[in-house]
Amino acid sequence: MCLAIPGKVLEEFDRRGMRMAKVQFGGIVREASLDYVPSARVGDYVLVHVGFAISTVDKDEAARTYELLEQMDQLTELNAPVIALAIVDGVLEEAERHQARQVEVVHLRLGRLSGVDKEALQFSYGIACQQTALCHSRLVIEDVEVVIDCPACGGERRAQFFPLLLCSVCGAAAEHVVRGKELEISRLEITA
Ligand SMILES: [Zn+2]
Repeated sequence: MCLAIPGKVLEEFDRRGMRMAKVQFGGIVREASLDYVPSARVGDYVLVHVGFAISTVDKDEAARTYELLEQMDQLTELNAPVIALAIVDGVLEEAERHQARQVEVVHLRLGRLSGVDKEALQFSYGIACQQTALCHSRLVIEDVEVVIDCPACGGERRAQFFPLLLCSVCGAAAEHVVRGKELEISRLEITA
């Protein structure tokens, strides 16, 4: 996923003669090259694609994207952008350890009780992997159903959510969750 996303230029700096900037996308700050947009200044919004700001954008246009990001943020208890960054960093480390040339697919197991919204995480991943070796990777999210250990009918049962976390067989209130809180990378598909 290589989206071009509008971000706000927070700071400019120089790296080996390249004009760089710290650019903020919702809750995420990434570095981007400003070589293609010589007119961009601190406070401007730029469209960033694969680590390069490719054009400046209108503040209103950027605001629409931020509205969307904010709506997504409200859906999550935890912060999807922060989690997406942690996933990207973890995968990059793992890829380096295996001397992988490219990561094609990242498989993630996501429990219904993880507190992370799937759509928001998918969207945030697309931003977080920009300008990294994961830029062309895909995040595949597998839902993990909630399973409880039922104190009444004894054994692992699927859970019902309403009005409380209940055993789907006998309706007793759950005391112990066996599965459903997962937020883990289960597998990477890499090109060696
Ligand atoms: Zn039960």
